Amino acid sequence: MNSLEKISIPDTNQKRVVIVGAGFGGLEVSQRLANSGYQVVLIDKNNYHQFQPLLYQVAMATVEPSSIIFPLRKIFRKKENVYVRIAEVEEVDPQTQQLKTSMGSLSYDYLVFAMGARSNFFGNKQIEELSIPMKSVSEALFLRNAMLEDFEKAIETRDYEVRQKLLDIVIVGGGATGVELAGSLAEMKKQIFPKDYYEIDTLEIDIYLIQGGDKLLAGMSEFASEATLDYLTQLGIKVRLNTRVTGYDGETVFLGDGTTIPSQKLIWAAGISGNPVKGLPAESIVRGNRMAVDEYNQVKNCEHIFAIGDIASMASEKYPDGHPQVAQVAIQQGKLLAKNLKRLHNGKPMLPFSYHDKGSMATIGRKKAVADLPWIKLKGNLASLIWMFIHLISLFGLRNKIAVFFNWMILYFTKDPYLRVNIKPTKRERAVVKE
Ligand SMILES: Cc1cc2nc3c(=O)[nH]c(=O)nc-3n(C[C@H](O)[C@H](O)[C@H](O)COP(=O)(O)OP(=O)(O)OC[C@H]3O[C@@H](n4cnc5c(N)ncnc54)[C@H](O)[C@@H]3O)c2cc1C
Repeated sequence: MNSLEKISIPDTNQKRVVIVGAGFGGLEVSQRLANSGYQVVLIDKNNYHQFQPLLYQVAMATVEPSSIIFPLRKIFRKKENVYVRIAEVEEVDPQTQQLKTSMGSLSYDYLVFAMGARSNFFGNKQIEELSIPMKSVSEALFLRNAMLEDFEKAIETRDYEVRQKLLDIVIVGGGATGVELAGSLAEMKKQIFPKDYYEIDTLEIDIYLIQGGDKLLAGMSEFASEATLDYLTQLGIKVRLNTRVTGYDGETVFLGDGTTIPSQKLIWAAGISGNPVKGLPAESIVRGNRMAVDEYNQVKNCEHIFAIGDIASMASEKYPDGHPQVAQVAIQQGKLLAKNLKRLHNGKPMLPFSYHDKGSMATIGRKKAVADLPWIKLKGNLASLIWMFIHLISLFGLRNKIAVFFNWMILYFTKDPYLRVNIKPTKRERAVVKE
């Protein structure tokens, strides 16, 4: 690792815990270590925490981006032992206990990787460049803008073939993200497009959901998968199971069965891969680019390094390939790790992790949702209300909860969200201040 300017965190007699990533897991550890005997440094490439489960609602113009994100500095106000730095972590040297970031280097006593995952394109560079992933607020806004731009163009496009490319939307991946996006696009096609784009024949808009496996929501029960397929079919989504996307040139989607779909919007929700960091021993990286951890979330062969959430893979009898990559795992691992770090500080042994599965849910459309709860399996309106309640209470910040609730009520009563605006970011050069 090259020598770099150091990040200016005061050297104190407290041991330093550096946490990389302010998602569900990283935020949990950092908050619980605030005002503990440690000095805490929280590093994230963004200055906000984002609530990924509602990203698709930003893309579909249902909620404002600002209501599903929360500024990190506001969370850690008055927490004097927590230092927030906005930087991208690039490399670690476990021997010298140094971290290399875009801002400079930093030493640690304990390091926690909570960097989450990114879209996995399975090595297909063309799809990576031309498709639209759904992992961040910026990507959700990109999709919203792309859709609005293409629909505006479609109004003035006489050529049927070209219009199809502008109007048709292809979603790849039949997990929760793909299913939820497909459902809300179908609702928009039914409720909103005929009013906003009355010059377009909405029957020309085709929404495809392509799934490589033989069922939707593969991680959920058979009951949930079948209900979801039924709902999407009722909503007019063209679901193709057992079908793989093999290529995409920006205008045509190529499928494994030899057929093609013309579309300028290929939404990629087909898989994830751990966010990479250089410097870890090869044996500590396993399937899906995740970090192999033991039952204390300690990274294999790296004594002072821990990993939690999506990036961690803790193999057990019940979860041989690691836990599901969902928010609850990250939160529960974050909670226990904070406790274990405090125990280490007090000379006590660490406690092993055991996942308490609270259930899974997905919403497909208005009054259409599925829920596998520990005690019951539900679908329909009740599942939809439970989904809304759980997501509302899980959102960070009271203002966000109120804002999302307000937007949902508008949608519920008027069936007409009002955020269909295309705000384009301005690109301008800024002067670089030299020291
Ligand atoms: C569209 C979508 C919908 C989802 N819906 C659900 C759902 O309904 N229910 C559910 O339980 N789960 C859902 N998930 C999964 C859930 O969001 C993740 O399991 C959870 O966010 C994992 O938490 P984490 O702390 O491991 O990582 P994340 O929450 O992803 O946080 C990672 C953080 O690390 C930062 N970071 C990454 N790389 C670097 C770097 N090199 N340097 C500095 N910072 C970095 C990121 O900016 C981010 O803030 C969904 C995910 C997506 C994408």
